[in-house]
Amino acid sequence: TYIVTENCIRCKYTDCVDVCPVDCFYEGPNFLVIHPDECIDCGLCEPECPAEAILHEDDLSPEQDKFYSLNAELAEVWP
Ligand code: SF4
Repeated sequence: TYIVTENCIRCKYTDCVDVCPVDCFYEGPNFLVIHPDECIDCGLCEPECPAEAILHEDDLSPEQDKFYSLNAELAEVWP
């Protein structure tokens, strides 16, 4: 899955949402998130993000690891 990270916070661009073929972006409190079970790993959103906030889960730095669960929580994956 792809993950939205800190550069998205308070970003106003939604180019990523426009290209996602499965509509798996959701609005968090101050940034967008990707629903990890809905993302089909197509990679289309990554180059569209002007803030370079979208990364593949394998490319997260240790400091960005928390964004994996944060994306999932905010997309309301957890019961
Ligand atoms: Fe949507 Fe594809 Fe990006 Fe996943 S990788 S969030 S399916 S555009």
